[in-house]
Amino acid sequence: MDGFDFLPNEPIKAPQRDVFCEGDPRSSMGHPRVYLTIGPAGWVDCPYCARHFILMVAETCAGVRVGGAV
Ligand SMILES: [Zn+2]
Repeated sequence: MDGFDFLPNEPIKAPQRDVFCEGDPRSSMGHPRVYLTIGPAGWVDCPYCARHFILMVAETCAGVRVGGAV
């Protein structure tokens, strides 16, 4: 566990709604890559490893990104 700072239950902040997960690449507990889309709720869970993705980009109710990032 030297320098192993991965926290399975820590939410992953995604910059866009389309994300993918393939488990933890640093362990043998990975899984086939699965693509997920963060829904209106602003989060989605990976069905394989239950990792929690949250959308970190602020959007208006019209779905337009604000802030001008990227
Ligand atoms: Zn996963």
